[in-house]
Amino acid sequence: MQLTDRQQIILDIVKREGPITGEQIADRLNLTRATLRPDMAILTMSGMLEARPRVGYFHSGKKPGRVLAEKLHQVKVGEVKSVPVVVPEKCTVYDAVVTMFIEDVGTLFVVREGGFLEGIVSRKDLLKTTLGGQDIHKLPLGVIMTRMPNIIYAEPDESVWEAARKLINHEVDALPVVKANAQEDGAMVFEVIGRFSKTNITRLFVELGEGDY
Ligand code: ADP
Repeated sequence: MQLTDRQQIILDIVKREGPITGEQIADRLNLTRATLRPDMAILTMSGMLEARPRVGYFHSGKKPGRVLAEKLHQVKVGEVKSVPVVVPEKCTVYDAVVTMFIEDVGTLFVVREGGFLEGIVSRKDLLKTTLGGQDIHKLPLGVIMTRMPNIIYAEPDESVWEAARKLINHEVDALPVVKANAQEDGAMVFEVIGRFSKTNITRLFVELGEGDY
């Protein structure tokens, strides 16, 4: 992040004299508080300065890159996830294509009764099937989907950064967000409660850039 000369001077003043009030900083620079307001906003928003009511500004000691990294580890998948689009295993390839268009998603989650994760189907899975010459009006998704336990998923308390790393490492576009529960017999079931995709990351990226998050 590139600071202006004035922002750098403010940072130096606070480093030297903080905690210091906005009034005092304005005095040092022979400017009004109103003039300094945008600079103070940028310096606090980026995390380089911290403001405490009735105390003033002090230097956080954090570098801008570190601040962004902390943010990405702080934001949880559960805060940015989207609504999942789910279909049953007996859904045909044809109906899955229609669902993708209607719901405007690139990945469908296949669930059994209770909303428990069974499989996942991507655009390319469907395209590949259309090349096979099979009757897509009859072929159920259960035949072509990627199945548990081979599905990479995220949990709501996981950081956005961890989930993004899974997308990159496994070269997939989306992860189901699940709540894992042990059944009475000890077997795990995964209730689908959301969808985490590259779009969620892009949206967060834009919001971070606007200082909204
Ligand atoms: P696309 O097919 O549009 O490139 P992906 O890269 O997401 O979409 O999918 C590639 C393959 O990985 C597909 O065969 C799909 O079934 C599978 N897949 C997609 N998402 C996951 C996931 N979260 N876990 C495991 N496999 C997945």
